Amino acid sequence: MAQVINNPTIKDYKSNVEPTWCPGCGDFGVLNATYRSLADLKMAPDETVVVSGIGCSSRFPHFMKPFGFHTVHGRALPVAQGLKMSRPDLTVVAVGGDGDFFSIGAGHLLHAALRNIDITVVVMDNEIYGLTKGQTSPTSPHGHVTKSTPYGLMASQFNPIATVLSLNVSFVARGYSSKPKELAALIERGIQHKGFSFIHALSPCPTFYPTLKVWNTAVTPIPTEHDPSDKTSAMVLAMETEKPFIGLFYQQERPTMDQAAAELSKQAKAFDIAEYMKRYA
Ligand code: SF4
Ligand code: MG
Repeated sequence: MAQVINNPTIKDYKSNVEPTWCPGCGDFGVLNATYRSLADLKMAPDETVVVSGIGCSSRFPHFMKPFGFHTVHGRALPVAQGLKMSRPDLTVVAVGGDGDFFSIGAGHLLHAALRNIDITVVVMDNEIYGLTKGQTSPTSPHGHVTKSTPYGLMASQFNPIATVLSLNVSFVARGYSSKPKELAALIERGIQHKGFSFIHALSPCPTFYPTLKVWNTAVTPIPTEHDPSDKTSAMVLAMETEKPFIGLFYQQERPTMDQAAAELSKQAKAFDIAEYMKRYA
């Protein structure tokens, strides 16, 4: 029986563990946005599960009252998908950082995206490895100088939004930790969307790559005339990296794999083997 909370507030979704992030870490804003979205949707904490991998942002479930699963590095998505397939009644949110989802977990992201299982993914992207003290991540810009790239990063910068659009993800959005109200609204819409929802949350790491000032002026709301059912124009917006757009890029309602599996299982249960044998054996 679900725990019903009348008029929930964000405190109903906070655990008694205080976040251990550095002062000013963008992940505080994403955490607050997530509390707010769960409260606005009146989610039952005992029917909501937050799954994470490894990294600074992956400490998330410890700070939340809903069920949490702090898994192993890069493996939030296999656990989140398995959970949703076996317990479709639960709301499943997978969270983590750019290292977890775009490096070690990148293969899982690709296949999860293609399956369209009804889970919500929030990636806190600070364009750096925070937990291991400031090496480049896949989203670090080309030429970025760190301890691991003293002559500048030679690789190109990974584009998360363009990638998931190309993988036919059915809900694609970007928010910013310093705009938690707008980010909360996107997480809310992602949770309500039936299918794989991908929310790219820009979330600065003031300790190893302070991007706050740059992003404060660079982030740009998606133009109001953008039609989120138009994937081609979503892709054009995704290719703008100097002034990253925030808002809903793309949304498409289509059957999910968890629905299809439930339907198949119903048909299998209804299958009359005796009748089949009588007719065809
Ligand atoms: Fe946040 Fe960076 Fe500190 Fe990690 S190292 S908690 S990402 S500010
Ligand atoms: Mg990171």
